[in-house]
Amino acid sequence: MSTKRLVMIVEDEASICNLISTLLISNDYAVVTAENGHSALTLIASHNPDLILLDLGLPDMDGMEVLKTIRTWSAAPVIVVSARGQEAEKVEALDAGAGDYIVKPFGTDELMARIRATLRYTERMIKGSMVSDIFEVGDLRVDFGKRVVSVAGKDTHLTQIEFKILALLCKDAGRVLTYEYICRNVWGPYSSRDNQILRVNVANIRRKIEKNPAQPRYILTEVGVGYRLVEELKDEVNL
Ligand code: CA
Repeated sequence: MSTKRLVMIVEDEASICNLISTLLISNDYAVVTAENGHSALTLIASHNPDLILLDLGLPDMDGMEVLKTIRTWSAAPVIVVSARGQEAEKVEALDAGAGDYIVKPFGTDELMARIRATLRYTERMIKGSMVSDIFEVGDLRVDFGKRVVSVAGKDTHLTQIEFKILALLCKDAGRVLTYEYICRNVWGPYSSRDNQILRVNVANIRRKIEKNPAQPRYILTEVGVGYRLVEELKDEVNL
């Protein structure tokens, strides 16, 4: 019991809360639930969860306020649960220290993948290092040390900027990175780069690593927010 990761679910809709709770318990997580912002803040302090799943639409407090309050004294990673189409809200949550977000309604596989990715990322941060010098997903292989990218065993040439962007995404595979975060890390904190230059670079990377750049499988666009490199490939859909 004590070795299980403790996930706190902050969700006012009992049916959703029960569903997520059952899912997590069957995946060997321990669960604590809160149905509003105030009880969440109390329970976080007393339970010290490993991860918090925070619904932004709560009855008593603005979810964003709950997030900001958590961030003032707890380092536990937070995955924000938001409504579809709220891009500005997602960016605000990521800027306020959320580790990731997931959009309602979500699939159980997607939720579990987000939780695993966020926990792994948090552990890497704590250890202060990357697990490996090589990243692989599907046919894509990125060697950070040698700065070599290959697809299905064939080396592909990326410019220095393209490599920086791809490496950044790979090191945080599974998590969304905002346009602003990527630009800051690639071009520096004072860069005034607009998203257009980033988009052009990502399009170039996709031409080099994707089978069909118009339907990318590795680098996914999170509209209005940023990019996410997948941790595992979805099964090919046969049309
Ligand atoms: Ca709600």
